[in-house]
Amino acid sequence: LSEKLDKALHVLKGHGSITEVNVAETLKEVRRALLDADVNFKIAKNFTNTVKEKALGQNVLTTLQPGQLMVKIVKDELTQLMGGDVEGINMSGTPTIILMSGLQGSGKTTFSGKLANFLKNKKTKKPLLVACDVYRPAAVDQLHVVGDQIKVDVYSDKGNTDPVAIAQAGIAHAKQNGHNVVIIDTAGRLAVDEAMMTEISNIHKAIQPQETLFVVDSMTGQDAVNTAKAFNDVLNFDGVILTKLDGDTRGGAAISIKSVVNKPIKFIGTGEKMEAIDVFYPSRMADRILGMGDVVSLVERAQEQFDEAEARKLQKKIAKNQFGFDDFLKQIQQIKKMGNMKDLIGMIPGAGKMMKDIDIDDDAFKGIEAIIHSMTIKERTNPSIIDASRKKRIGKGSGTSVQEVNQLLKQFNQMSKMMKMMQGGKGKAMMNAMKN
Ligand code: GDP
Ligand code: MG
Repeated sequence: LSEKLDKALHVLKGHGSITEVNVAETLKEVRRALLDADVNFKIAKNFTNTVKEKALGQNVLTTLQPGQLMVKIVKDELTQLMGGDVEGINMSGTPTIILMSGLQGSGKTTFSGKLANFLKNKKTKKPLLVACDVYRPAAVDQLHVVGDQIKVDVYSDKGNTDPVAIAQAGIAHAKQNGHNVVIIDTAGRLAVDEAMMTEISNIHKAIQPQETLFVVDSMTGQDAVNTAKAFNDVLNFDGVILTKLDGDTRGGAAISIKSVVNKPIKFIGTGEKMEAIDVFYPSRMADRILGMGDVVSLVERAQEQFDEAEARKLQKKIAKNQFGFDDFLKQIQQIKKMGNMKDLIGMIPGAGKMMKDIDIDDDAFKGIEAIIHSMTIKERTNPSIIDASRKKRIGKGSGTSVQEVNQLLKQFNQMSKMMKMMQGGKGKAMMNAMKN
């Protein structure tokens, strides 16, 4: 999807402002991309129409590049379409009763465990898992394995074939044993059928849960919409759980489901492990669908802070070999103004994961700044005059060692060389690519 969108948005590059013609061109591609991600045709069409109106209405924002503005509008709209805000679970009731529904293999049992674990970790909750899948003995065992793993009690009754009775007995068991949350895991079938719908509906009526959740495998694409609709018609459920988002899923199901049943997506499953659960953030999902990290806000923040005239002046200096420590200091301050380093790097697509384990200290610049502050103006503009005795003095003044001063000088030299290189042939293309 992201490749397609890249292509779509590429159409807009190089144009000074957004005109009706290139908006139409771009939106055709965006629509195609959404359809490819299994978004329902009507939804995709409505979506692009809304984006079109917004894009044409916003020609005021000519300072941003049209491509970026377009990305932002598409992203905002996608976020809105998936619900806008984060939605929690209704925890009223003593105990709170949570009912799981969904097809077989959608991830109900796994998610029941994940949710129990998630709530248990909140300290004030003492969940109980109830096994109501009466068709497969293995399903009951599976829930017990899960319960053992996360140290949460499981109620089951293997001889009993009436899921309604088991659910009710489970709730009674919870009340007797001080459990304040009951999570009811149910049976599913491979496709929507009468028997399953009647059964889940009967359980629902009998126990009147505070929260009924519909669990859906995000890899099922278009089918997910029909399944969601069928379950919603019968249960009028409160929220959707999107599982298996750890794979190479396209995520289009999230958009379609929300639009068709108008119920919030509450949690996502991102793996088989009990910890692989996440609250659903519409804006993050939009990013995922757009496949580009939080580029949009990175662009915005950078734009806010970066003075173009300053940048041009700097470029000239680099070209003339006049880039000095004062300029370097200015750059550091510029970067710092943009915010927390880790956050910034996290917003670069692909870099988030990579940088997670690397510790970036926001104070990393402190030593550097101290050294530069201890230099005379002459030394800053012409670092080559910094000899051994000057290094000693700078070290003393900044509270650093001569080695640290040396290291900074070395890094600075390397950087100056690199910047000079960036000015020529290959570098220019690279810089331009980055600008777009
Ligand atoms: P149920 O039939 O609805 O109870 O589905 P299960 O909970 O038994 O899950 C079916 C399969 O999907 C199992 O092999 C799970 O390990 C797997 N599964 C469930 N949730 C996730 C998820 O978020 N990511 C991945 N990769 N696998 C999942
Ligand atoms: Mg199951």
